[in-house]
Amino acid sequence: MKTLEELFEHQLRDLYSAETQLLKALPKMVEAATDSKLQKAFKDHLKETEGQKKRLEEVAEELGIKPTGEECKAMKGLIKEAESFLKEDAESAVRDAGMIAEAQRIEHYEISGYGTIVRYAKELGHDAIAKKLYKTFQEEEKADKSLNELAENRLNKKAI
Ligand code: ZN
Ligand code: FE
Ligand code: FE
Ligand code: FE
Repeated sequence: MKTLEELFEHQLRDLYSAETQLLKALPKMVEAATDSKLQKAFKDHLKETEGQKKRLEEVAEELGIKPTGEECKAMKGLIKEAESFLKEDAESAVRDAGMIAEAQRIEHYEISGYGTIVRYAKELGHDAIAKKLYKTFQEEEKADKSLNELAENRLNKKAI
């Protein structure tokens, strides 16, 4: 890599891998959730994640590059951790609360990644692309915030 443009492409592919992995993992989270509101939150974000993956494909096409070719090892680890948590022997209310903790780690990772590439896109003069990626950034922030509220107003209390 010689330029910020190439670093930007690298980060874009990393996020594409992250979203692709998440698309496979989220249905398991939907299935494992007991609380109906938590289940809905995961389901809604699954739908959003499909759109996010598509946005990255559109951006890659606009840039004339392939979105594939990189493996996001951090997302692999975060998903591995979430899946191993699901195998723990836990009361359903406690498992629900714990799943939020796992999911928020994932959202924070995505928020960080999109924060960076939106900034790179702006600095490289890719204004339309920056705008598109910023939409995803906002969705990730919103998902994190709703999970937080769900934990604070509902699931932590149920788990007590
Ligand atoms: Zn790398
Ligand atoms: Fe995402
Ligand atoms: Fe990554
Ligand atoms: Fe997300």
